[in-house]
Amino acid sequence: MIPLREAQEFVLDSCASGAPEPVAITEALGCVVAAPVTATEPVPPFVNSSRDGYALRAEDTPARLVVVGSIMAGSALDRPIGPGQAARIMTGAPLPAGADAVCMLEDCMDEDGGTMVRIDHAVDAGEAVRHAGEDVRVGDLLAETGTVLTPGHLGVLANQGMDEVCVHPRPRVGVLSTGDELVSGPGPLAPGQIRDANRHTLLGLVRREGWDAVDLGIVGDDEVALAGVLDQAGADCHAIVTSGGVSVGDLDIVKVVLEKLSGGTMRWMQVAIRPAKPLAFGTLEGSGVPVFGLPGNPVSAMVSFELFVRPGVRRIAGHRAVHRTGIPAVADTDLRRAPDGKTHFVRAVVQMDEAGRWRLRPTAGQDSHQLLAMANANALAVLPDGTGIVQGERVTALYTDPGWSGGDSTTGGDRPS
Ligand code: AMP
Ligand code: MG
Repeated sequence: MIPLREAQEFVLDSCASGAPEPVAITEALGCVVAAPVTATEPVPPFVNSSRDGYALRAEDTPARLVVVGSIMAGSALDRPIGPGQAARIMTGAPLPAGADAVCMLEDCMDEDGGTMVRIDHAVDAGEAVRHAGEDVRVGDLLAETGTVLTPGHLGVLANQGMDEVCVHPRPRVGVLSTGDELVSGPGPLAPGQIRDANRHTLLGLVRREGWDAVDLGIVGDDEVALAGVLDQAGADCHAIVTSGGVSVGDLDIVKVVLEKLSGGTMRWMQVAIRPAKPLAFGTLEGSGVPVFGLPGNPVSAMVSFELFVRPGVRRIAGHRAVHRTGIPAVADTDLRRAPDGKTHFVRAVVQMDEAGRWRLRPTAGQDSHQLLAMANANALAVLPDGTGIVQGERVTALYTDPGWSGGDSTTGGDRPS
């Protein structure tokens, strides 16, 4: 067995971030910025009103002013405001020349059919005025290299008139299941058949990271067929994830095929973790596309995704921090285990209590084929080698919001709120 960190380092050494390319900002959410972006335009671009009201000269107030025009957002007044004058102005409309303040409508009395306005208090200069560049000045750093683009950033870039941004491309990740026993969809099962769960789980995990998922289907335990699919996918994907066929059984062909396609550089690892001990990892000869051969048991496949695929593909996506940060939680029950030289990852639910502490309890069914307990979990409790953790002790949790079950589903009923 090799330590988890060693296996992760081996994987990460073969995962290089994708070459930067311009991507439409409409497609760039979640992408990692590959070159600093600075502002070339001030935002707001011109002095404007932050209220619906009257633009005026503060020094005139209090006063009864002549209304000389009306300015909507998107229009402008073609004359300056002189002494004793005001212009009706809507939020976002440019402040007319001569004016230095806006009195909000609520404090104004329209008179003489709207041709005059009365303001009974002294308005401060600059009141309700937004200056050009108050949000962003020319030369401001909008996004440094490594920034993960949020919806807010997309608006910041759009404010500059940019329609593209230089990022590491969003990874395309191919997912396939291997095994002669697998079938997909409805219909009765023939003796010995099982349904293919892993492909859907892994496609979902890929999508939840914001990556493009490519469904490569089911491949039987057939070396030629598997080699063909991997070869084709290597031309189309940044990474490939398989499940099944990496154990020590008679038909564990993934490691055999990957050994050939990687030019002998594949490593078949027994990692000191439970579940998900076996991992076959190699890069396709020629393209260098990494192939993650995950174990077939559904929970093992998900845990292996979390510990190897996610960090590896995050590196490809250009992220600097690739590993999930564990959160400190308090165990609500004993988390017993036997020493075996491995780190155990226990499916669990974490929830914040009223005192702001994370509480953790395991979900039922901790075997590696018991996918429901994984689906109902939102975290993996990390149990280092030893005898486990007793109730009330600290335990590190790899917590995933919105939960391993994804989406807003309340299945399990006890996600942190
Ligand atoms: P393997 O690693 O191929 O020996 O598979 C280990 C276990 O996982 C076996 O019980 C398989 O039937 C099961 N398994 C493999 N692939 C899948 C899959 N795609 N969905 C559900 N179970 C699977
Ligand atoms: Mg198999």
